[in-house]
Amino acid sequence: MTTTVAGTAYDRLLSLYREGTLLGSTAEILSWDQETMMPSGGVEYRSRQMAQLARLSHEQITDPRLGDALSEAEAEGHPEDSAEHAQIREIRRDHEKATKLPAELVEAFAKLSSVSQHVWAEARQKSDFAAFKPHLEQLVKLSRDKADCLGIPEGGERWDALADTYEPGMRASEVAAVFEPLRDRLSDLIKELTASSTKPSNAFNEATIDIDAQASFVKEIANAVGFDFDRGRLDRSVHPFCGGSHCNDVRLTTRFQPTEFNDALGSTMHEAGHGLYEQGLPFSMVGLPLGDAVSLGIHESQSRMWENQVGRSEAFWKWCTPLAQQAIGTPLAHLDFEDFYGGANIVRPGFIRVEADEATYNLHIMIRFQLERAIIGGDLAVADIPGEWNRHYKEYLGLDVPEDRVGCLQDVHWSMGAMGYFPTYTLGNLYCAQFFDTAREQIPGLEDGFSRGEFAPLLGWLRENIHQHGRRYSASELCERVTGKPLSAEPLLNYLEAKLRPLYGI
Ligand code: ZN
Repeated sequence: MTTTVAGTAYDRLLSLYREGTLLGSTAEILSWDQETMMPSGGVEYRSRQMAQLARLSHEQITDPRLGDALSEAEAEGHPEDSAEHAQIREIRRDHEKATKLPAELVEAFAKLSSVSQHVWAEARQKSDFAAFKPHLEQLVKLSRDKADCLGIPEGGERWDALADTYEPGMRASEVAAVFEPLRDRLSDLIKELTASSTKPSNAFNEATIDIDAQASFVKEIANAVGFDFDRGRLDRSVHPFCGGSHCNDVRLTTRFQPTEFNDALGSTMHEAGHGLYEQGLPFSMVGLPLGDAVSLGIHESQSRMWENQVGRSEAFWKWCTPLAQQAIGTPLAHLDFEDFYGGANIVRPGFIRVEADEATYNLHIMIRFQLERAIIGGDLAVADIPGEWNRHYKEYLGLDVPEDRVGCLQDVHWSMGAMGYFPTYTLGNLYCAQFFDTAREQIPGLEDGFSRGEFAPLLGWLRENIHQHGRRYSASELCERVTGKPLSAEPLLNYLEAKLRPLYGI
């Protein structure tokens, strides 16, 4: 590592950048508070507080002084493989992204998306696509303008410019190349499973369990997998999420229902996976790119790993079954290991993405990706979305969508103008399966350890190979460094087929 002398352009750059991210991390705590603790009366003033912080941190990242320090730091000639070089490259990226968008466009987008979210929420409730359509048309138009300002990568398309915000460097053509083989083999697998006369028992999901008992149990599990409660919390919210301000203050939330205990446990494992990533980012790099997560796809690979590869595995349930029975008592006493493990792995095609199982989930994402790529590319009119949506659901999942409320109006993303976001969920599943295959090769007895409640070897491996690097490597570089191969659909498909077929007697 190059040593830096106080007063170099690089040092100045880091301190200017840190001023902006300090405000941003403060906004994160306000946003967590809004979702968990704030009384509803606080909404109006809170939105002004948030807008002010957003404005100030935008000012700081676009500050011409930061631009000057960037150019000077670049001229200092830090070696290409150094941490400094990566830090400067990523700050350049953030600075350019923020400066490329004209203030009027940012403001117009913010206003439109805030109104559109209200219109969408009402339209969804009434299943009235026509009411949402003019707003979505405007959002598509502004999104195209936004893509043009951000710049379409050479040989790419408008969608790429939008997706780059969530998954730096991701191209629609690359996503399609990975998604297509996945879609075909996944559709076949789902048909095979649904046609089978053997099905796992649903008794675990039907059991009614006291919510306080659920809450203390999921907290115990989060602790057991390595989430550090001295540097984090677990609270409740309507939609589970992982927030907080930095690696030493990570805020998870989860949700509970009287039944569907595995939903609470799975959500907790999922958010804990995000939280373990955040807690694994180096504090020495706090507020800097090398102390920040690579991309949404890589973040999701961490949450899915703990939720699925660990939390829905046979080995995990060997360990967890007696613990759950002991902690919960009577409601689970009549069940056996097969009920828990099978109940955690039921595959059932449905209309709603957020309720989908591990296998069908990715088909929901592919449908959204294909549609938004066509909309942004100008090949699909907004008016034709419901028809195309329903046609795809019939083709991929064998379902007849009865109304738009459970069809194309179900997700908030497009109403916020977040086009290019959806694929990060499936990319997360793909990265996850590929990372996990490598972890299994490199850690002898990895899964046997899970059956004894030993999760530290996996966490240590993730810390060393992924967490500690922050944004030093791009998602695709990281994938190649860790697994030795570019991203592929094979590991996920092999994993799903190997696990699910036996559970369905195939
Ligand atoms: Zn997630």
